[in-house]
Amino acid sequence: MFREANDPVFYFEKKSKEYYSIFQKYCQGATSAAIFGEIICQKLKEPIQKSVYKDTARDLTNEIQTNCESLNGNRSKLEKHILKTLAELEDFGKYITYFNTPRDHLKSFIRDEVSQYITDKFEKSVRPKMKENIKLLQQKIMEAVHSATTLVNTTNGDVQKWLNHFTRQLSDVLIFSVKDFSGVSHEGVDDFNLLEDVISEELDSVSSEIQHKFSTKTFPENLEQKDRPDEILIDHLCQCCWVQCPFCAATCTNTVENHTGDHSVPFHRVSGVNGRCYDETECLSADFCTTLVRTSQMFYTGQWFLCREYRKAGNVYAEWSITPDFSELPYWKWFVCSFREDLEKHFDKKIHMWDVISHEWSQYSKEQALESLDEYI
Ligand SMILES: [Zn+2]
Ligand SMILES: [Zn+2]
Repeated sequence: MFREANDPVFYFEKKSKEYYSIFQKYCQGATSAAIFGEIICQKLKEPIQKSVYKDTARDLTNEIQTNCESLNGNRSKLEKHILKTLAELEDFGKYITYFNTPRDHLKSFIRDEVSQYITDKFEKSVRPKMKENIKLLQQKIMEAVHSATTLVNTTNGDVQKWLNHFTRQLSDVLIFSVKDFSGVSHEGVDDFNLLEDVISEELDSVSSEIQHKFSTKTFPENLEQKDRPDEILIDHLCQCCWVQCPFCAATCTNTVENHTGDHSVPFHRVSGVNGRCYDETECLSADFCTTLVRTSQMFYTGQWFLCREYRKAGNVYAEWSITPDFSELPYWKWFVCSFREDLEKHFDKKIHMWDVISHEWSQYSKEQALESLDEYI
């Protein structure tokens, strides 16, 4: 990008193509108006492409927010789809990234979903949007051309007046101004009707060239970071609370970054997946937070506290609302049984004290685990 913007050789190569086609017109004996029309369209090419890509990205973002199953709801729904995808991939490493750096995992999940959506719907939905946007823009440009021509024809104006009016009309739609024509000679341009005809014709070929280049590869590449659908959605969906449960590390699903109430999640995990273990043992905890806070088990944070009085531990403990209930999500039981060896290796701990429960837990199939997630919303 730096080279494209600053390297004179690169700039010269780019410009030489534009000027070659103008030179060809000279050789064919075209009039000044025809050549000036060609120059205008060459100069419009880049701003048109930028504007059309940006508009298409905006329209697409709106569509994704409505139609994409994983991204069209709230944080809890997104969380459910993240867990589903993790289970489908059965990649323990990805689970660990998700536990340790939920925000990074969420970002890469959104990027993958958006990229998949674009690939799946490119011909059916993305390209038609792009065509529609380029058609609308072409209409606006031709309206500006026509209005400038009418003005100059009725007031006996010159080409500078035409250009000033034309560029001013487009100032809201394109990054394009009279300054782009500094150094361009427009001597002898006096046939404005011909200029209008030439622009109309050239604009068609500029549009087809842009449409021809439009692909799943060029689309994201030619968008500025801030205009990319995935970045807009990341911005939108990451503005939420990121505080993790002190027991199981589940991320609070409140959608406001500085919400006033307690942190909460619809479903807690088994606290062993966060590396929690029973005192004086090498055994990972087999308790769900919701179960823990019903018991008189104790936990240690510099001093001992009763689990059912967890808020007394202060700090983040005091800010969490963990409801003592029986909501043990089968998904996590399936996870623990499926990744038992990985968990033991990762935390260098054992899960042998879980034999009592493992019989019930190991009965869950992946399908049942995934079905249990539907309780999330
Ligand atoms: Zn928890
Ligand atoms: Zn929160």
